[in-house]
Formats: sequence, structure tokens, C-alpha cells
Amino acid sequence: MKKVIIAALMMSCGVAWAQKDKKLVDKTVSKQRMEAHLKFLASDALRGRDTPSQGLEVAAEYLRTQLEYYGVKPFPEYPDYFQPVPFKKYYKPERGALTGTADTFQIEKDFLLLKGSNLNWTGEVVVLPYATQEELEEADVAGKLVVCTAGDGTDESVRAWYALAKEKRLWAQDAGAAGIIELYQSPQIPWPLLVKYLSGDKVMLDEGEDEDEFLTIWMSNAERKGSKAFSTGDTVTLEIAGSKVEKFNGHNIVGYVEGSDSELKSQYVAFTAHYDHVGVGAPDSTGDNIYNGARDNAVGTVTVLEAAKNLTTKPTKRSSLFVLFTAEEKGLLGSKYFVDNSPLPLNEIAFCFNSDNGGYNNTSMATVIGLDRTTAEDLLIKAIETYGLTPGDDANYKDQNLFDRSDNVSFASKGIPAPSFGMGVDAFDEDITRTYHQPADEFETLDMDYLYTFYRAYVLAGRLIGNMKETPFWVEGDKYYEAGKALYEK
Ligand SMILES: [Zn+2]
Repeated sequence: MKKVIIAALMMSCGVAWAQKDKKLVDKTVSKQRMEAHLKFLASDALRGRDTPSQGLEVAAEYLRTQLEYYGVKPFPEYPDYFQPVPFKKYYKPERGALTGTADTFQIEKDFLLLKGSNLNWTGEVVVLPYATQEELEEADVAGKLVVCTAGDGTDESVRAWYALAKEKRLWAQDAGAAGIIELYQSPQIPWPLLVKYLSGDKVMLDEGEDEDEFLTIWMSNAERKGSKAFSTGDTVTLEIAGSKVEKFNGHNIVGYVEGSDSELKSQYVAFTAHYDHVGVGAPDSTGDNIYNGARDNAVGTVTVLEAAKNLTTKPTKRSSLFVLFTAEEKGLLGSKYFVDNSPLPLNEIAFCFNSDNGGYNNTSMATVIGLDRTTAEDLLIKAIETYGLTPGDDANYKDQNLFDRSDNVSFASKGIPAPSFGMGVDAFDEDITRTYHQPADEFETLDMDYLYTFYRAYVLAGRLIGNMKETPFWVEGDKYYEAGKALYEK
């Protein structure tokens, strides 16, 4: 009986806390302000916030100004809230031709440069079946261009070929070859589609290593054109021109609020979202060519702003970390850089509460990717239900593998529990693809009443986690459970 009374007391205590937190959320989350933020971030003036672009820099300036205005503190390392992120942008070659004994092949139409830069090279070719390590050791390839078939004849998936190409390149380099040409022919990804995927300008983190320029080419082998073109001992000429690399800095925006509990404040709850998008591109049927990224991810960016406004008004027991990432759309680059260069030791970040939004098609729910994967599940559900929404996850579209496709995974892979909170998506259907990475992802088509509810649910969830008694952790058996144990030395 006594136990029951204590349990009841504890429960009502918990409810009282939640009520207090809800009041604070209702007081600080402003519909007018959230709408204004969204309108600005998704405006045509920011030109779709591509990395790098003037529009993205203006967005960054706006965001750090908001954090400063709310009273978020900068880290001493980043006194102006900007964490510089070193990038390099690779511009694809403007011209390229490979001339053999009978034929001349053109870049993109016939071949793709996977690695390498401008050159003008004439020399001999060596034809090998697959250029396996063994084949390369046995043949005399020094100073020559190796020609082989992509893959090794076992796994016929393009993904496997691509992974193997990285190894072949190293083996060929070790054997002293001048470069490697792999002949490509796959029904899985036809050549024109492959060109679309793999050619084009690329933004990468500049990790300060020497450029890996060992010449690597994939060449279309449609109708065995490539196979017929080369024989060992042939002399070929390869000319590549007009590619270049430019270095630049982007910015993650970083700040914190100290927690109110003398012990728990050494743990941080990270509120994170990417603020970049994909910029300007092909026009849609209306002629609009600005990919505004209202849902993706002005909406997520504003979750962090609203959390910051709330937590500077009254901190939770745990401290709060705010990070807005650059270059998510280039391959999660801003968050990858952050977790390797965090101003806080990663084991002080107890939880990452990310928000990313490809779109929405259900305004009665909030979707948490990874909802049942951490011990914060109950609190997430409680916060969402408090505002009359239904909690959901990606059960209907697990094949999209969303957990591992946004910035939360940069934290998760280090062991930090990191779900991603998003607008209601009950299926990955036409409603989503209509706006996902399209010019139609506009501010004007956002449902503000729904978003007002959505933001309050997010901020309340953040508060509940910031005040949670137990430290949140992965559910046992999760893919990242062991990484978490190692990080926190549990
Ligand atoms: Zn996104």
C-alpha cells in the first residue's frame, strides 16, 4: 500500500513538473515569431540556401543574431557563434577525351572521371580481367594505364563495384600504374543515370590531406565498345581540362545555455537542425527555379530557435547545446565536422534532439525517426500527446532508412542517443515527393496552425528530456547501443 502511495505521489509530482514545463512552453513559443522566421528563411531572397552561397551566409548571419538576441552564450572557441567548417568545392572537367588506336571517347558521353584532375598523358595500356590485387601483382603495369572490367565477377551490384573501385585504385597505385579504367555495363543503373549521379560539381570537407588524385575512370562498355577498343600494348592519349578545386569556409552556428542543476548541468541536450538546402536548379512547370526549402529545413531550423528562446527564458536542469548545421544536403558534412570538432567533449552531450523535415502529409501527428530507440520514448510521446498530436515513426517506410540519412546519425554513430523529430509523415507518398527537394517547398503552403502545435510539442519534449531524472540512453540491443556504452563508459 505504502509503495502504491509513493508511486502515486511520484507520478503526480511528474505531472506537476510537466504542467510547469507546458506553461513555460505556451508562454515562450510565439506563433507570430515562428511564422516570421519561416518566412524569412524560406524567402526567395535567400535563393534556396545552397552550400556555398550568399543566401546561406545571410541565413547564417540571421540565425546567429537570433541566438545572441535570445541570450544564448557563445563558446570561447567560437565567440561569434560561428564554427568555421573548411570545405573544398570540386568543379568537374569542362573537356575530356581518350584517344585509342581506332576510336576517340568523350567525357560523360563515354567515360567518367571518378578521381584525378587535369592532365595530358600519352602511354601504354595493359588489359587485365578485373585488376584484382593478384592480377596487378603478376602483370607489369608500372607507368601504364590499366584497363579492366568493373567489379570482380562475384557481386554484380553497382554499389559493390563502386566500393571495390576504391580498393583497386590503391592496388593499382601500389603496383606503380599511371591510372585505371574500369569498363562499366549494368542494367541496374544505365550509363546516362550513372553520369547524372557521379558527374557534377561536388562539395566536400577539406580534411587537409593531400589530394587523392590517382587517375580512376569508369567507361561505358555498351555493346562492348570499351572491351573492343583496347589491347595490351596499345598507345592511348588522355586529355582532361578545366577541372578545378576551390577552398572555402562554411559555418555551423553553435551556442549553449547553462543548466540549473549543479550536477546535471554537466550534461547537455543538443538541439540541432541543418539550415542549408539545395539552392537554385531546374525550373518546375510554373517556371520557378528557387528550391526554397521551407519544410527542408527552415521548419527544423526554427525548432532550434524556439527551443533557444524557451531555454534562455528558463533553463532546464541539464544544459542545452544549440547547433545549426551547414551542408547537410552535401552529405551531412556540417554535422560530421561538428562531432569531430566539438567545443564540448562528446560524452558530455547526453542526447541529440534533431529536427529534419522532408515534408508532411498528416497534420494530426508528429513523426519521430527513432522514437522507440531511446529511453526518452515515453517523454517524447507525452509531449506530443500533450498537444493533441499522435506520435508516430517511420514504420511505414523503413526502406527509406531515414534515421541514417540526417544529421542525427553523425551523433548516433559516436554513441549519442539521437532521434530526429519531424512533421507528420504517415507514408512516403506523392504528397511528400511533390515538395521534397522541389521549387514547390514554399512558405506559402505551410500549415501555420499545425506548425504552432508542432513547435510547442518539440520544445516541451526538449524540456522534459532536459529535466529527465535518468540520463537518456539507447534501448538495449540498438545498433548504436555499444557505441553509446563505449562513449559514456557505461
Ligand atoms: Zn533536410
